[in-house]
Amino acid sequence: MKMPVPDHRIISRRREIARSLRGLVPDDAVIDNMAELSAYESDGLTAYRQTPLIAVLPADRDEVEAVLQYCADEGIKIVPRGAGTSLSGGALPLADGITLGLARLNSITDIDITNRTVTCGPGVTNLAISAAVGPHGYYYAPDPSSQVACTIGGNVAENAGGVHCLKYGLTTNNILGLEVVLMGGVVVRLGGKQFDAAGLDLLGAMTGSEGLLGIVTEVTVRILKKPERAVAFLAGFDSVENAARCVGEVIAVGIIPAGMEMMDGLAIRAAEAFVGAGYPTDAEALLIIEVDGPEAEVASAAVRIQDIANSAGATTFRISSSETERLAFWAGRKAAFPAAGRIAPDYYCMDGTIPRAALPEVLTRISELSQKFGLAVANVFHAGDGNLHPLILYDANKDGELACAEAFGNDILRLCVEVGGVLTGEHGVGVEKRDLMAEVFTEDDLKHQQRLKCAFDPAGLLNPGKVFPTLHRCAELGRIHVHGGQVPHPDIERF
Ligand SMILES: Cc1cc2nc3c(=O)[nH]c(=O)nc-3n(C[C@H](O)[C@H](O)[C@H](O)COP(=O)(O)OP(=O)(O)OC[C@H]3O[C@@H](n4cnc5c(N)ncnc54)[C@H](O)[C@@H]3O)c2cc1C
Repeated sequence: MKMPVPDHRIISRRREIARSLRGLVPDDAVIDNMAELSAYESDGLTAYRQTPLIAVLPADRDEVEAVLQYCADEGIKIVPRGAGTSLSGGALPLADGITLGLARLNSITDIDITNRTVTCGPGVTNLAISAAVGPHGYYYAPDPSSQVACTIGGNVAENAGGVHCLKYGLTTNNILGLEVVLMGGVVVRLGGKQFDAAGLDLLGAMTGSEGLLGIVTEVTVRILKKPERAVAFLAGFDSVENAARCVGEVIAVGIIPAGMEMMDGLAIRAAEAFVGAGYPTDAEALLIIEVDGPEAEVASAAVRIQDIANSAGATTFRISSSETERLAFWAGRKAAFPAAGRIAPDYYCMDGTIPRAALPEVLTRISELSQKFGLAVANVFHAGDGNLHPLILYDANKDGELACAEAFGNDILRLCVEVGGVLTGEHGVGVEKRDLMAEVFTEDDLKHQQRLKCAFDPAGLLNPGKVFPTLHRCAELGRIHVHGGQVPHPDIERF
């Protein structure tokens, strides 16, 4: 076997930068040997791999500041990383960039039950927040299926969602404050513990910014009181069309379930074989619906949902009779991605959002695309908010199958846009959907978004290569006009 020739320029650059970084952070926070670096070469989008130049694992904000200042001075690119579960390649390393792992900033520094907030480092996992406030009767609502591993910093960067976001909103609706270190080491605070802050909504701009604007070093989230009662229903249908009709009718009568998920036949059978959640394996579509709130409200919603499901043609209907059973109903859905990994050597998880009414049409056309590309697809989705996760099954060891899966995935995303939807619901753009951005945005739209990036990161050193199909130099996007002196505000002049 021919061994790859080591690139001596990269080796000496790696040595030089590692030496400088060891003057800024402890020795064990700098990873520069190839064996250890291989742990960082991909994220949840495993089809893409790249060994980073170096990985640095700061333990506090001061270390993050020092690294960012050094990188800004030296013109070194940085890829932020939480737990590396991104499914869009957001944390994919750069050969000539540093991977900045934030997982060591994992302390919960404040639990404020009076204000119903938790403040913590970006490396705290999503589930750890609910675990910390659970004994007080509270929880953190956004619950990505990866919540046992993914970090709150990664959730902020991707504006992560989950099965309960239909009622309680995505990450952006549950974040109150951030501390962010900008390239160059400047620290800014956005928001706080209150619901609204004066000034422009930079907190909103930062949430979902995919590591392109700054490094999140502290997060304040709002927590919710656990509902008095939560009940989940399993409704099986013999067609996706009937299940989709049920979804539309539940929402139309004014019930906002805490979660409303759909799985198609292939996904139902894969999940049931994996976790034994009690799913009806002969159904072609399954709805998992949860309602929560005061006892009386839940009881009344249960009756109405069962009536709607029956009139939409449900072939089976079950109500969870205990907390253990409710969690078991969700366990199958939450394990749907790894379950797909048991029925095919590889799977490619897509993430697009469509108007709810387009569900039947889109699923029919996905099944036609499946025939065209010769690859099976299992559909799992947040039906209540129209966020699809088709899992394309393929075998990377077969010549051309990865390329075929990618082409299939791109056609699914184009279809989402064609019916009035968008390219992503919660997984972000990353490298995966970068080249499709022009299908949704005009050149002017994209340039305007890049002007915001330029305001935060004028040298373009933070996570370059992600989100934007073409990265313009900030100078090309228009010079910042600087006045000679302060211009009085017109209202001030008037008085
Ligand atoms: C099995 C599985 C199920 C999943 N289910 C869901 C789901 O239900 N809902 C959902 O929304 N997502 C889901 N995901 C995707 C993923 O878990 C989320 O996108 C999550 O928010 C990523 O968090 P992370 O800590 O792993 O971030 P990473 O993957 O490490 O990074 C993600 C992005 O955030 C940036 N970033 C990370 N930390 C910081 C920081 N401190 N400051 C600035 N930028 C930062 C990175 O540069 C990158 O662009 C799933 C993934 C898997 C593997």
